[in-house]
Amino acid sequence: MVPVYTGSAQHSPFEATGPGLDGTAILLRHGTPVATIKYPRQARFYALQTFDGIPYWKIAQLHSNDVLATTVLQNCIRYTDRTTSCQFCAIGQSLAENRTIAHKTPEQLGEVARMAVLLDGVKHVVLTTGTPNVTDRGAAVLCDSARGIKAQIDIPIQAQCEPPRDHGWFQKLRDAGIDSLGMHLEAVTPEVRARIMPGKATVSMPRYFEAFEAAVKIFGRGQVSTYILAGLGDTADAILQTSEKLLEIGVYPFVVPFVPVSGTPLANAPAPTPDFLRSILPALGRMISAANLRSADIKAGCGKCGACSALASYED
Ligand code: SF4
Repeated sequence: MVPVYTGSAQHSPFEATGPGLDGTAILLRHGTPVATIKYPRQARFYALQTFDGIPYWKIAQLHSNDVLATTVLQNCIRYTDRTTSCQFCAIGQSLAENRTIAHKTPEQLGEVARMAVLLDGVKHVVLTTGTPNVTDRGAAVLCDSARGIKAQIDIPIQAQCEPPRDHGWFQKLRDAGIDSLGMHLEAVTPEVRARIMPGKATVSMPRYFEAFEAAVKIFGRGQVSTYILAGLGDTADAILQTSEKLLEIGVYPFVVPFVPVSGTPLANAPAPTPDFLRSILPALGRMISAANLRSADIKAGCGKCGACSALASYED
């Protein structure tokens, strides 16, 4: 997943030519060819539309080359107010630009997932959601969505939400057919959390860890994961220390370089440097391998996909 349309990408030393007739292109660094690359193909299921006339690409997208990903609810209680919204988040932008729909129904998701498997060989599904309330925090709509998909096609699903207030939701999510669960810390230091995600930071780190432990009991070691964005202000030490605690309780810490997205309050924030990532990912890869919680063993989701980070390449 290479950022192309962001401010920081404009200053990248890398540039790619358009694809030739054979689909390959040349990657240049400061104008000098360094590699031959191939662009991902357009998903075949993008050409279809639902019985009610919604193009499939507005319901779910192909991520990497074999992941179907969607944001079930494209609204979030935290997003409309910039005093509570996560400063890196762009959940409302694609909706405002009519590139998606606000609520993907279970029937629509099932229909699209089935065709994405048949036409494009999709192997797993990522269901994320904006947070609709402070009680179930999206768990109910994720259960409905998973049932809608599994009624159409047997495919591993990862769901992503904030920790529901009632841990009983973890069993309900599992029973609905969800195979792995992501609850995303994003940042790990209290000061950084409060500054970057003032609303979500009201769910404290201890609260996240209680939820992780409860979820691992239901989903199993290595099937619960969290996204940590490197480059929001946490030090490498803070990220590695938190990752160590996560690994101890069976949670996969998916550390991903922060991408400043155009149109968000952090649009002009710097992207993390390669040196900063090198101070985290090799050490983290060794910790993950030692804990025996490798990305390849996750049944579904971002950690398994790995396209947003080079982390998996450091696991052995
Ligand atoms: S890691 Fe997650 S967000 Fe990134 S491309 Fe893969 S499925 Fe999409």
